[in-house]
Amino acid sequence: MNKDPKQIANKRAQELKDSIQDYLDVQENIVTGEKIKGELARRKERILELLNGDEQDWKDWKWQLQNRINDVNTLAKILNLSEEEKKEIEYVGENYRWAVSPYYASIMDPVDPECPIRKQSIPIAHEIKDEIGKSDPMAEEYTNPSGNITRRYPDRLIINVTNQCAMYCRHCQRKRNIGEVDKQTPRHLLEESIEYVKNHPEIRDVLLTGGDAFMLSDDTIDWLLTELDKIPHVEIKRMGSRTPVTLPQRITQNLCDILSRHLPVYVNTHFNHPKELTEEAKNATKKLAKAGVGIGNQSVLLNTINNDPHVMKKLCHELLTAMVRPYYIFHAKCVKGTSHFITRVEEGLEILEKMRGYTSGISIPTYIINAPDGHGKTPMLPEYLVSQGKDTIKIRTWENKIFEYPNIAPKQKE
Ligand SMILES: *Cc1c(COP(=O)(O)O)cnc(C)c1O
Repeated sequence: MNKDPKQIANKRAQELKDSIQDYLDVQENIVTGEKIKGELARRKERILELLNGDEQDWKDWKWQLQNRINDVNTLAKILNLSEEEKKEIEYVGENYRWAVSPYYASIMDPVDPECPIRKQSIPIAHEIKDEIGKSDPMAEEYTNPSGNITRRYPDRLIINVTNQCAMYCRHCQRKRNIGEVDKQTPRHLLEESIEYVKNHPEIRDVLLTGGDAFMLSDDTIDWLLTELDKIPHVEIKRMGSRTPVTLPQRITQNLCDILSRHLPVYVNTHFNHPKELTEEAKNATKKLAKAGVGIGNQSVLLNTINNDPHVMKKLCHELLTAMVRPYYIFHAKCVKGTSHFITRVEEGLEILEKMRGYTSGISIPTYIINAPDGHGKTPMLPEYLVSQGKDTIKIRTWENKIFEYPNIAPKQKE
């Protein structure tokens, strides 16, 4: 008896759906920035009232920066804080700077200390108690050949343009650089860095970061990109900025116009949780995309924030709707003051295992461990190559089925 192909296909379709039923069951309950739009609008009004600002001020990134919340008393008017929590924040803040833009503060849950936005931006005592973290685990001190460059790879390098950020992430890998004062890299060091690139024709990719590259003025960004465009061997420019997440107001039309004059430009940003994908954040990334900028996301795997396969999958799906391509998930480094965020490597591998095949390939980032002492980004992958024989290999599919696969290549004619 012939089997009906349609019947087989339908049975398989049901099987496929069942294989993601666990995700389908929970995804509706994962909070995203867009889902809580109404709530955010109300909190924004409250914060504006508190800071004596209006709608125009809110849209102005300079107002957002000038009005960053960095004292406990103002914060306590936005969040429910116990006396103990207030003391803790004040105490830790003496060692590790904190500051939150009014916008980013508006996505914090006022009552829930487990809020992923709060955990990324508000200090807790663990930062001080950290006894295992190192201040510079990547030995960045030894990778600066000239100007304010970090060079660790053959054909690309970083120019550190500022130490300033719109918000100081509690999990920052460069906590040691985030002093009490904002330091823009002086012009002569930028010039020296550009000179180095000019003199090294193997450098085809220049990354402007810091700190946050979009903390620079539009004019300085335009100048830097113009100088890099004059160097024939610089094929692409990349910029690192978390402003689409923490200060989406920074993505102005003027900035987009500048970037679009210097294509190809890629921006890598840093969303860690679907809650950060608010309407404002998505409008910012879509504006960049319209300007022709390629946008990637580098998240950090953070204990109790996103070390959950469903949350991470939802994050990656949300990113794609915002025209952002998930690029890297970084394993949290052992940086002093941040070790409470570190997860086991198995958790990262499980996240990837639950993505490949189960969701769009375009939504799957590469999971990276930074090798000790700056020995470079090292990809961590679930194992799909099971074994290698002489003319065959054994592979494991996304559904955990094992196959033998011929490993042969026809001889080429002499
Ligand atoms: C991460 C990094 C880069 C960029 O690496 P990609 O894998 O190309 O994104 C370049 N230089 C340094 C020093 C880096 O740390």
